[in-house]
Amino acid sequence: MPRIVVLGAGPAGCSAGYHLAKSGHQVTLIDKATFPRDKICGDGISFESVQALFTLGIYPQDIKCLAQYAPVCGLRLGVSNGNEHMQTTQLEGYCIPRFELDNLLYQHAVEAGCIPQTQTITDLARSHPDLYHDYDHIIDARGVYAGEANAIAIRAYWSVKVEDFPEPYCSKAHIYFDPKLGVNGYGWLFPVTVKDGLIKLNVGVILWLDEYQKLNTNIIRLFDQFVQKNETTKALLSKLVSQQKPRAYPLTTAKRDNRVSDGKVLKIGDAANLTDPLTGEGIANALLSGLQVAQAINMSVMPAAAAENWQRLYQIHFEPDFQAGLWLKSLRKSFLANQLLISLMKRNHWVAERVMYAVAGLIPYSEFVPSLRY
Ligand SMILES: Cc1cc2nc3c(=O)[nH]c(=O)nc-3n(C[C@H](O)[C@H](O)[C@H](O)COP(=O)(O)OP(=O)(O)OC[C@H]3O[C@@H](n4cnc5c(N)ncnc54)[C@H](O)[C@@H]3O)c2cc1C
Repeated sequence: MPRIVVLGAGPAGCSAGYHLAKSGHQVTLIDKATFPRDKICGDGISFESVQALFTLGIYPQDIKCLAQYAPVCGLRLGVSNGNEHMQTTQLEGYCIPRFELDNLLYQHAVEAGCIPQTQTITDLARSHPDLYHDYDHIIDARGVYAGEANAIAIRAYWSVKVEDFPEPYCSKAHIYFDPKLGVNGYGWLFPVTVKDGLIKLNVGVILWLDEYQKLNTNIIRLFDQFVQKNETTKALLSKLVSQQKPRAYPLTTAKRDNRVSDGKVLKIGDAANLTDPLTGEGIANALLSGLQVAQAINMSVMPAAAAENWQRLYQIHFEPDFQAGLWLKSLRKSFLANQLLISLMKRNHWVAERVMYAVAGLIPYSEFVPSLRY
């Protein structure tokens, strides 16, 4: 039986560990952090992520048992001049603080049979000087610092009274384009928990590094400018019951000509730059890449073939959509494209629905633009 070590127990590592342990492998799951641990995130669990959670045997009832979660069934997309479109769906996504979600995933991986160890790679290398030869498969799921960072985001938690942010707003994911955040960057506001008359909100901004570097400012200042200027966040600022300081973290969004394996090292999740190139959403792909890498190992006749098979599965299941997403991103050369998108959504229900489902990962970008070549 192949010897497998998974480095990093975020969504990607837990998913890989879960599927490999369930298929009878002995898996060592290593993380430098003791769980539960926090991860700076927008906490948005898209419809695609909900589907991916099903593959790990995590169902809506498991989510509704968590101390903190909020249902999200729709999108409010706007631009800074007040032009906006809001739409409700009959599908439920969620917002779950990563402290809660990642702990649930970790417990699932351990219950499936993974052997958890709290240590860093340096500790591991000390006890296994010949690490590379001691294992048949090394799955690198160490997140963003093992990948190639190309975006940055910052988020804060705010609490307001329910009456200050009532329906239909409190059940929507709010996304706002603002020219200060570049053409591709945006600000968000997601509801995290509705409890004891208070709504906890996750508020943040994301920018792609190529645009950020041209702005000659810093992410904290951009966050402040966004929340003070945007109509929704500005109105909430004077009603805050409490707020937590914003914290920034890099992202590894999709890149071209991506190699996700190197010898016996198989990279997944953020370590493999699998975050959505347009939205920065990464949980679904982290979970799905864990499933696919487990399949690559299980399908391989010889351990040495797993790397090649994982690269192939990546090319089949991730690359076409990433290419289409990167192509769409390259089309958005000016802020006018964002204005146009929202105007189109307001006028045409079909367009609005397709954009919303594409953002939530239910319609692949490659299908969204089937007649166009990228
Ligand atoms: C501000 C922000 C907002 C975001 N919002 C969303 C969102 O709303 N929805 C969404 O889907 N995605 C979002 N993302 C992206 C999402 O957070 C990531 O794509 C996702 O966490 C990737 O999971 P992962 O398992 O690959 O990596 P991680 O979740 O980063 O897990 C990596 C694990 O590896 C461990 N590790 C790292 N180095 C070592 C080491 N040397 N030794 C041992 N262990 C190690 C870490 O402790 C960690 O537990 C956001 C990202 C940011 C920065």
